[in-house]
Amino acid sequence: MKPFRFLFPRLAVLFILLFVLGACSRPDPVPIQDLADTAVQGSSVVTEKTAESSSRGLILIDPGHGFDDPGCTSYDGSFTEAQITESVARLLQKELISRGWNTELTHDGTHMPDAALLHESAQKMTLQNDININPQEWVCDNNLFSKYERVLWANARSRKQPATLLLSLHVNSIETSAQTVRGFEIDYYKDHPCANAAGDFSEILHDILKDTFNQKVKLFADNKEEAFVVTKYTDMPSVLLEMGYASNAADAALLKSSEFQTQLVQTIADAVDAAYSM
Ligand SMILES: [Zn+2]
Repeated sequence: MKPFRFLFPRLAVLFILLFVLGACSRPDPVPIQDLADTAVQGSSVVTEKTAESSSRGLILIDPGHGFDDPGCTSYDGSFTEAQITESVARLLQKELISRGWNTELTHDGTHMPDAALLHESAQKMTLQNDININPQEWVCDNNLFSKYERVLWANARSRKQPATLLLSLHVNSIETSAQTVRGFEIDYYKDHPCANAAGDFSEILHDILKDTFNQKVKLFADNKEEAFVVTKYTDMPSVLLEMGYASNAADAALLKSSEFQTQLVQTIADAVDAAYSM
């Protein structure tokens, strides 16, 4: 027996594996390890904490809007987008935890992870030069947790424990003349370093939603101009789900019903399981 005969091939395989895993991340624009540490502490505002020892990976859930930004409003004024995204996010977090996933919300709607540190880090972040936005837009006030800060927070959290997926939850709306438009919409950024992983999950989510709800499900691989901040600038595979149209009466009735929300989170969790359990 010559045990070392296989050492080099095995090392080569190990290095290739590490290279492939490492390739699915952006170059680090600035060292923000400090932010990661504090951001994780800041996330203690999230009530449903998970076991760090969870073996199934980390899923980040971003309830779209919140704080001073209600998002869209339903056609009859009975709910705002932020109310629905926060409710579904909490249910989804519970469901994923029950299935063994580690999950965290980017915010709980009223408290944000360490705002002062996010301000400082945002101003330092060289990435903003690519993004071509006013640096002031990176800076939150006490009542606003912007989409840019969600990205900063998610990237920092993922440096602590690489996230398998970030799912941003939203509700669609369209002008009153098109109130018949309804259904789901899924978006990811086609030129993201993790576009393949985001695309695979999106396809699975698309099929499961279509089968479960028998509804139209649009799936878009967005280009740079079309992509959302949260799908474009995050380090991990990132997918945005529009859960229905607040401007459509049938969708609005579903969105605010607890039965639909429960079935929806089970469907999303099934897609997560199907995409990442192999
Ligand atoms: Zn939205």
